[in-house]
Amino acid sequence: MTVPFSEPEERVALREAVRKLASKYGREYVERQAREGGKMTEMWLEMGRNGFLGVNIPEEFGGGGGGMSDLAAVLEEASAAGAPLLMMVVSPAICGSIITRCGTEEQKRRWLPSIADGTHLMAFGITEADAGSNSHKITTTANRDGDGWVLNGQKTFISGVDEADSVLIVSRTEDAKTGKLKPALFVVPTDAAGFTRQPIPMGWSAPEKQFTLFLDNVRVPGDALVGDEDGGLWQLFAGLNPERIMGAALSNGMARFALEKAVAYAKDRAVWQDQPIGAHQGIAHPLAKVKIELEQSRLLQQKAAALYDAGDDFAAGEYANMAKYAGGEVACNASDVAVHTHGGNGLTVEYGLANLLVAARLGRIAPVSREMILNFVAMHSLGLPKSY
Ligand SMILES: Cc1cc2nc3c(=O)[nH]c(=O)nc-3n(C[C@H](O)[C@H](O)[C@H](O)COP(=O)(O)OP(=O)(O)OC[C@H]3O[C@@H](n4cnc5c(N)ncnc54)[C@H](O)[C@@H]3O)c2cc1C
Repeated sequence: MTVPFSEPEERVALREAVRKLASKYGREYVERQAREGGKMTEMWLEMGRNGFLGVNIPEEFGGGGGGMSDLAAVLEEASAAGAPLLMMVVSPAICGSIITRCGTEEQKRRWLPSIADGTHLMAFGITEADAGSNSHKITTTANRDGDGWVLNGQKTFISGVDEADSVLIVSRTEDAKTGKLKPALFVVPTDAAGFTRQPIPMGWSAPEKQFTLFLDNVRVPGDALVGDEDGGLWQLFAGLNPERIMGAALSNGMARFALEKAVAYAKDRAVWQDQPIGAHQGIAHPLAKVKIELEQSRLLQQKAAALYDAGDDFAAGEYANMAKYAGGEVACNASDVAVHTHGGNGLTVEYGLANLLVAARLGRIAPVSREMILNFVAMHSLGLPKSY
């Protein structure tokens, strides 16, 4: 019997396989790597070897030939096992999607197979300090120089640059320096002359670090430009809708992890008579509420990914935003409830939940903030006046 809303058998099997691999590493591995300044490399490469990082990349370029629904399922499961791979949002989802949809045949052959198996990590840089949420204000500029380009500018909060082989930099050309953003996207190797980085000391503990980037007369060849220099915003959104869907998947997985831990603890911990604390509605109801919010949020994630995979970019944009909003909210609520259910243990290193409070908070800020999503929904879904 086919049950509406159930996933195809292959994706269910994919989820199980990822869960099995990610559970070998789990929360303990992530916390240890974060504490000791390590990376997620071992798990990342094992995920790559098993074909999990490139499930969305076309088969002819070394991937699994699936879609964003599959990649989001992979990240959700890794995250639910306590080992969220932040760089999956960036390398296969944003960069892989943009190159697949906008790259030349040669660019696809050069980058996609190694993005798919995890041996080439591509970071993504759009955020600038003076532009913030308003990407139309970015000033990183690309000038033509013979057959190539010269890039100048600064980026901030760019994740994983210390681990990356290259960064997909969002710039604007000299000819389109002002007005609405016409993005020109360049693959810049992290060892390019004139390209430097400075770590940003962050108040959360994670293996993935954030950096300020400086591009000082960085020369790249003509074929570093992915897509058309005048191709319009759709080229960027070929990557940003996947980014939002993956942001939702990461958050939903995190919420599942937190809820699972909390429920297990609530069933076990007894401080009054023989009743476990989960018998008290003060503990049970917040957990039940998170369960409902989580199911709503996962449905939005699946709908957004299905729309993207069906090629309906317009509807995918609307649902990717709503899914990302819902994911951010439920991850924050779930981690808060999980910490609270654990009492004092919720803030110990041993239970691995305290750090999750801050990690979950990221889902309300990046890649696009909660308020910018509400602005989008108010304007585009509800037809209200533009507020900014
Ligand atoms: C851990 C981490 C990793 C990141 N990784 C990357 C990365 O790899 N690559 C990359 O390019 N960027 C990355 N970012 C940047 C991230 O995308 C931005 O932080 C985010 O887009 C918000 O921009 P901002 O920080 O400049 O906030 P601001 O734009 O300064 O906003 C500050 C606050 O004001 C609110 N606000 C702004 N405008 C409005 C408005 N019109 N209406 C209502 N409220 C508004 C916002 O919602 C927010 O709460 C990362 C950020 C973090 C924290």
